Formats: sequence, C-alpha cells, structure tokens
Amino acid sequence: MPIRLFDTLSREIRPLQPADGQTLGFYCCGPTVYGPAHIGNFRTFLLQDVLRRTLEADGMAVNHVRNITDVDDKTIRQSQAEGMSLLAFTEKWTEKFHADCGRLNLLTPSEEPRATGHIPEQVAMIEKLVAGGHAYVAADGSVYFKVTSCEHYGELARLDREALRTQSTNSAGESNDADEYDRESVSDFALWKARKPEDGDNFWPSPWGEGRPGWHIECSAMSTRYLGESFDLHGGGVDLCFPHHENEIAQSECASGVRPFARHWFHSAHLMVEGAKMSKSLGNLYTLDDLVEKGHSPMAIRWALIAGHYRQQLNFTMNGLQAAASALAKLEKTLAPLLERLGVSRDEFRGWIAPNSLLTTGVFAPAWEALCEDLNVPAALGALFSALKDLDDPDFDKLALAGQLQGLGGLLYALGLDLFAVEESPAASAPEAVVALAQQRWEAKKNKDFASADALRAEIQAAGWQVLDRKDGFDLEKV
Ligand SMILES: [Zn+2]
Repeated sequence: MPIRLFDTLSREIRPLQPADGQTLGFYCCGPTVYGPAHIGNFRTFLLQDVLRRTLEADGMAVNHVRNITDVDDKTIRQSQAEGMSLLAFTEKWTEKFHADCGRLNLLTPSEEPRATGHIPEQVAMIEKLVAGGHAYVAADGSVYFKVTSCEHYGELARLDREALRTQSTNSAGESNDADEYDRESVSDFALWKARKPEDGDNFWPSPWGEGRPGWHIECSAMSTRYLGESFDLHGGGVDLCFPHHENEIAQSECASGVRPFARHWFHSAHLMVEGAKMSKSLGNLYTLDDLVEKGHSPMAIRWALIAGHYRQQLNFTMNGLQAAASALAKLEKTLAPLLERLGVSRDEFRGWIAPNSLLTTGVFAPAWEALCEDLNVPAALGALFSALKDLDDPDFDKLALAGQLQGLGGLLYALGLDLFAVEESPAASAPEAVVALAQQRWEAKKNKDFASADALRAEIQAAGWQVLDRKDGFDLEKV
C-alpha cells in the first residue's frame, strides 16, 4: 500500500515513493548543538522517526541523513562563554543529543554529517554560485546569495513574488547576515561570513578570505553530498520553511541547475506547552531530563509527543503526558494475558516489534492504513485500541492470535513504541533496596522456599510496594 503524505511545496497529499524505486533518500535538518534539545525539537525528530519507521514497516529502504549544526552564532558564543573549544563544546552536546535520542527510541540516521566536517563541499558550492552569477562577494569578503537571481525563489513559503521584486528593487544591495529572519525581511542572505574578531579562532580558509559558512549552505552541501542533487524527501519543523528551506532550494537548484532539489517536503507543526508558546521566560521550555526528573518515562513522553497529528499544533500538557502513560500501561496490561495464553514471554514479544507484513491483513490493518494516509498517528492509536478489544476473545485460535500479535509488532515498530522494556517497568522505578528484596523473594520462590518468599513479600509491602508475579519475573507496583 503506497504511503501518502502532504507535500508542503505542492500543498497536496501525494504518494511517497523513491525515484529509483528502491531506496528513499530522506534529509532532515538536525539539531544545533549548543545545549540540550527541548521537547519541541524532539517532536520534529520523533515525527520524522515515525515516518521513517512507517516506510520501513512497508518494506522500503530509507537512506536517512540528519546533520549536526556545529558552527553558527549560537554555538560559537556559547562555547566562548564556557571557555571551551568549539569542537569540545559541540562534541559534548552532540553526545547528550544522542543519549536523549536513545532514550526516546529514535532510530540512528544512516548518516549524521557535521557542518564543520564538510567545509570544502560548502566552499565548492558557493564557488559555483558566484561563477553562475547567483552570488556576489561583499567588500569585507563575505559572500551573499542574490535572491533576485533565482526565478522561483519564494515558492515553498508562498512569498508574494510581486512584493519581493519591488522590495528587492527598493532595497538594492541590502543584505542580511543573520541566520534566521522572518518573511518580512526577505533579502540577500549570507553564504560565507568573513572572519570577525568575535569568532575567535573559529574560521576556515576560502577563496574570499578567512571566515565561516552561513547556516543555510551546510544543508544544501551535505544533502547533495549524501543524497545527490535531487532527492526524495526533505523534513524539518514548520519554522524552518522560511527562510531556511527556501534558501536551501535556491542555493541547491541554482548551483546544480537540477530541479527539484527535494521531490517532497515534510513539515511538522509547532508544539505549544499548556496552551502557551514555549519560551525560556515562561519556564516551559522542557528538556527530556526535566520531564524524566518529574517521574515521567521516556516512552510515555514519546507517546505524548507523537500522539497529535503532525500537521496540527500539539498542545503538550502534563495531563496529556499522564494520559499517555496510562495508555501505555493499558496496552501492556491488555497484552500481558494474551501473551500468557500463547506462552510467549515479554522478551520474545519485544523481538516481534519489527517490520512485519502480517500487519496489512489482520485486525490492526485499520491502524496501519491510518499511518499510511498522511501519517495519521492519532487515528492509528485509536484503531490500535479498538483492534485489541477484538482480540480479547477466549475462542480466538492460538495460531491466529500469534499472527495478529506479530502484526501488532509491526505497528509498534512503525510508532517506535517499545513495550515491557526493563527500563520503563515499574520495577525500575522502585528504590534499589525494594528491587533487591523482590529479587531475593523471586529466588526464594524459585527454590520453593515459600516461607522466606512470604516474609520478603511482607517486607516489600511494609516499604510501600506490592510485588506481582509474572511467568518470567516480577513487577513492582506502588501500594
Ligand atoms: Zn537544514
């Protein structure tokens, strides 16, 4: 079944297929590594992850490239403030980003190029643009892209072409070296920034003198390097649509002469927190650590962040996060007796969380179809729970049940939901001493020393925990 997805450029839902019929090239704008990513950043990366997983669950190979922005105004300023070299500073935050991605069960990209590792590619692309009359060198040695040289500039963000032309005429020669700006200030933008004293020792040689690349050019250079001059799919948060993605298109297409730069554009909507825009001053710029410290599991956080439709603003609330945790617990609780009936352990079931074609025909097919139609995660989650009800029938043939649950494994793979993970189990959140008692009790029980087991159970209860036996272990629940 072909996966269909809204394309920001054509403004329509279109089938998503690789041009070569085999591997889908997917470029995502990655994090700027100057601090911990917040949940708004992670919502974007998680939705890209669900899309990639859905394509893989459908049997498609995905070449997923996500860059690391390790040089820009923010990384330079912050590394200097902390008295670290740019390399050591960005390395530290890249490691933190990877650790957070792991906890949220994000798949590792096929390639994760860093901007500073690809300066020659960026310089080569700027040279092409200068040679082709699409860029000019300013008096200080900075290089700017000439917006009026690109006939189709503004198509992605739907800028008013007429206004753009008059504006450019009115502000001839005006240029902008800020990395981010809004659509009211369309102007020539920096491809190469001449070295300034405040850059410290963060500069590279170029035909125009020492300096560093602008932000936009890195994605053009790295996507071309890893996916070619024209590739299948480009993703990012909706805030990147303009100017970043508009500029990527202009640079890439003017340098290569090949259109389109990306055949399909995938943008996810903003995240609000408790009904308000995220901001430092409101104190709602949550990181993963902030939420884990409040006692939430990364898997529940993942669920809460993907549960809304990607094209609608998601209002992230603590109530929503609680609801996600309950939904996750309910799913595990419903599954546990079904697995018991089949004699399948939880670990074995976790092995079933993998692409599986049984998904397309069983009771979970409606949930799968919802994912295939413009990545409708909320509809998929709703359909998943209705399907579970259908399975709760003691007459269900065991072999058929096993097939259905393998299909469910395919769906869980697409959503990136890992169930019964040790780390997320209630046992993991109990104090170490209580877990130790429960382990002793489990051993005692295995050795048929029931007196000791009972005594240990009482001790655990006195500590405020209840031990629940499973076929292959135990759970701890707060009393
Ligand atoms: Zn980018």
